[in-house]
Amino acid sequence: MSLIVMKFGGTSVATAEKIHRAARRAVQERLHGHQVVMVVSAMGKTTDELLALARAVSPSPPKRELDMLLTTGEQVSIALMAMAIHASGQEAISLTAGQLGLRTDSVHTRARIQSIDRQRLEQELASGKVVIVAGFQGIDQAGEITTLGRGASDTTAAALAAVLGAGACEIYTDVDGVYTADPRIVPDARKIDTISYDEMLELASAGAGVMHGRAIEFGMRFGVPIHVRSSLTDSPGTRIMTETQGMEAVSVRGVTLKEDLASIVVTDIQAGVGVPAQLFSEIGKKNIVVDDIVQANHSGGSKASLALLVPSEDADHARDVVEHLAGDLGIGSVEVFRNLSKVSAIGVGMRSHSGVAGTMFDALRHADIPIWGISTSEIVISCVLAEDDGPKGMRAVHDAFDLSSPDPTSADNTD
Ligand code: ADP
Ligand code: ASP
Ligand code: MG
Repeated sequence: MSLIVMKFGGTSVATAEKIHRAARRAVQERLHGHQVVMVVSAMGKTTDELLALARAVSPSPPKRELDMLLTTGEQVSIALMAMAIHASGQEAISLTAGQLGLRTDSVHTRARIQSIDRQRLEQELASGKVVIVAGFQGIDQAGEITTLGRGASDTTAAALAAVLGAGACEIYTDVDGVYTADPRIVPDARKIDTISYDEMLELASAGAGVMHGRAIEFGMRFGVPIHVRSSLTDSPGTRIMTETQGMEAVSVRGVTLKEDLASIVVTDIQAGVGVPAQLFSEIGKKNIVVDDIVQANHSGGSKASLALLVPSEDADHARDVVEHLAGDLGIGSVEVFRNLSKVSAIGVGMRSHSGVAGTMFDALRHADIPIWGISTSEIVISCVLAEDDGPKGMRAVHDAFDLSSPDPTSADNTD
């Protein structure tokens, strides 16, 4: 009997009717003889609403209490899902992270999974129940409630699929798969049939909100096939898998946009004496996640400047950390630039195609969009743009790589 993990995102459980629809899918799999673990997010925009409520009460709520509050959203939806399954005549049980033993570190609002206890899960599955797990949450060694970061119910699902050796991890959402760009911003974006873990990981890290990045890491590390699909239709979605031959035939697989960024620019750093190491160890200790780092040397190589791209909400904190160290490290000036966005082009085919960066920069130039920073890695090219230019820049880059046309590596287009 194979085991399936089925994850339903917020919009897919937003109403009683949608909860019933998701419950029916799980029951169907159960009746086909599969063991079923469901992972469920909070209903609709519940998490956003809870966050707004917290901010209405306090300008900077303690992170422990934020986690306590936000995890209630998932507790509501797992209980309702279990009731819906019961109502259809099947056995089901809802479990919080604390009840099943999903342990994390203690970094509130950004915790990482350390271990998952299989005992309770396996016991409930063996008794024939559909097990419904609260996504996004964990519990630390001290028994404190944690959360894994926004959108992290995907990661709960992939991690459960990994530890339980599931045959599949199905991510049910409000789009019918992973697209070449966010279809809300690029209306002619195209659905991708298959994508490598590497590319999906980069797409997710660069801002494709359809999947949480750490879910892909679990899938990749434990070889769990992930299928992103619509909760409203039965059409096949996107399969995330190990790289196959032919995947490198296209240079760019997708384009992403990350908004709400700020750049901390640090000038006149003494080059080559370990200043960046000290700076980043301090920033790391404060749990600030740096999106991108660009260093450039000047003055004959003796001085350097650094630009750190961070989420806007972390900008003040990051600037304080850098300014605090400025005297000791002999740093020149520290400046913050806000209202930035980042457009990235991603594809494993970049390894074997040249001219990709040129095409991207050209597309932005033709659209009259200034580039404020550039960073590249083996399969990603990113440009920092003004926030207002982000969506237009994304569409220009998507067009330049002709991503609306059928995928030449898709099964339908090869013979
Ligand atoms: P869920 O609540 O099911 O987890 P999310 O809102 O987290 O759903 O993710 C689905 C949304 O991700 C889509 O509605 C879409 O607007 C957005 N999205 C961003 N980038 C992409 C992409 N490349 N492909 C598909 N959807 C994307
Ligand atoms: N409810 C959480 C959020 O909105 C987790 C998730 O949906 O994946 O971020
Ligand atoms: Mg999501």
